[in-house]
Amino acid sequence: MSAGWAVALHGGAGVHAGRSYARAEACLAELVRAASDQLSDGAPALDVVERAVAAMEASGLFVAGRGSAPNRLGDVELDAAIMDGATHRAGAVAALQGVASPVTAARRVMDATSHVLLVGQGATLFAGQQGLEPILDLETWLTTPEGFRDGDLDEGHGTVGAVARDGKGRLAAATSTGGTYGASPGRVGDSPLIGAGTWADDLVAVSCTGVGEAFIRAAAAHDLAARVRYGGARLETATDAVLRRALELGGDGGVIALSREGPAVARFNTDGMKRAWAQEGAGAFVGSVGDDVRRVG
Ligand code: ASP
Repeated sequence: MSAGWAVALHGGAGVHAGRSYARAEACLAELVRAASDQLSDGAPALDVVERAVAAMEASGLFVAGRGSAPNRLGDVELDAAIMDGATHRAGAVAALQGVASPVTAARRVMDATSHVLLVGQGATLFAGQQGLEPILDLETWLTTPEGFRDGDLDEGHGTVGAVARDGKGRLAAATSTGGTYGASPGRVGDSPLIGAGTWADDLVAVSCTGVGEAFIRAAAAHDLAARVRYGGARLETATDAVLRRALELGGDGGVIALSREGPAVARFNTDGMKRAWAQEGAGAFVGSVGDDVRRVG
């Protein structure tokens, strides 16, 4: 018997105490309610995480999609991944340019090719062949995400992610990022790397945000899954252990995770993480700074 549906979203752990994230929270509240409706109607977890992440990309309120951070050359390079826990199928794009929704491109890589990861020009070419929406004018398309000020985009983890469990107990995860401000051209973080920033299998779904290099070196998302699978760890314990490990390796951040039962876990070792979650029969919640959360559904 299924434990019922559940969902969690994050909009990055680069939260600064004392700043307002009202618009990001309103967006997350709306999206978590929409995701809840979809899951109640029987939508697959995979479609729900893709839709939620695509909407966060389009909102311009996070460092992903329209809110992306230009690299040292002023180019915007986009990374995203999606994984279907029930089948272990995955798709990802990295250093993608000129495409409005990187998570949609990642889903197409998964569905329409035999590959897992396409990068750079090849990814852009593929997205064009798939007829995905192009970015026509980068200058007018880009926005500066809420809560960021000049000069601190580099400190802000504003990556977006989603994990969901549907009514059939299937798990899925997706993550999308517009990188870190002023990064080296070609720099790829953890988000599009399966097992680093994104993972889903039959037991857990994970999406990370934070200093990508540390999360890669910690194999964070897969390590969390391994702690649950082989060590029998509780989801929250495994999540905290992985965040500690990434911190030891030089990077702070946050994680959202779901297992086959129970509510989502949303943990971070920064000032906060923009986040929302909902569970069948247990309402919907949103928060950003510290432990303050409020019910939104
Ligand atoms: N993890 C992302 C990266 O390193 C950044 C973030 O989470 O904001 O690309």
